[in-house]
Amino acid sequence: MIIAVDGPAASGKGTIARALAAHYGLPHLDTGLLYRAVGITVARAGDNPDDPADALAGCVFADSLLDDPALRSEEAGPLASRVSRHPQVRAALLERQRAFARQPGGAVLDGRDIGTVIVPDADAKLFVTASLAERARRRHAELPGTTIESIAADIAARDARDAGRAAAPLKQADDADLLDTSDLSIGAAVQRAIALVNARLESR
Ligand code: C5P
Repeated sequence: MIIAVDGPAASGKGTIARALAAHYGLPHLDTGLLYRAVGITVARAGDNPDDPADALAGCVFADSLLDDPALRSEEAGPLASRVSRHPQVRAALLERQRAFARQPGGAVLDGRDIGTVIVPDADAKLFVTASLAERARRRHAELPGTTIESIAADIAARDARDAGRAAAPLKQADDADLLDTSDLSIGAAVQRAIALVNARLESR
């Protein structure tokens, strides 16, 4: 069984994808980490994330980088968003994601284009979202040093870049179920996600 979880920054998709993986006993891939690794590799080389050739060169990195806490930093998100605009970068990371999805028994993947590009035939697809104000509030709780306004501005800029790009833009797949977590606790959002996936599985 393959479950695709897509959505904008700080929507809760990662938490929901991890919970679904635990619930169904499936491996999970946070595909944002791959783009974050490329962005950090480019930055550490002193290269330009907006240059397609520099960004492509950043696709060669050691697997151990995926465990580096720097990938979860606030700087890594915008860097990832900048390198991920280049079709060459997306192509370089595509097979790795598809191979993960197609392993025996299946998998849960979360990202921006899992249901639209990486595994369009996934058994269940969720598009997880929340209001900008709620997403900024949640991020602020994790990063109390910054103002909510600046966090909201950063998230809005990243969403605009991710949704506005030509290559695999952030968008809900036609056959994805929308899960708005704005007014839901984590537990309630996870229960809803499981119910939506179960309904898809039963209707197959
Ligand atoms: O999900 P996360 O915030 O870690 O993703 C970082 C950035 O990587 C996103 O803003 C997006 O630009 C890019 N990304 C992508 N496609 C994916 C996952 C992430 O373009 N499947």
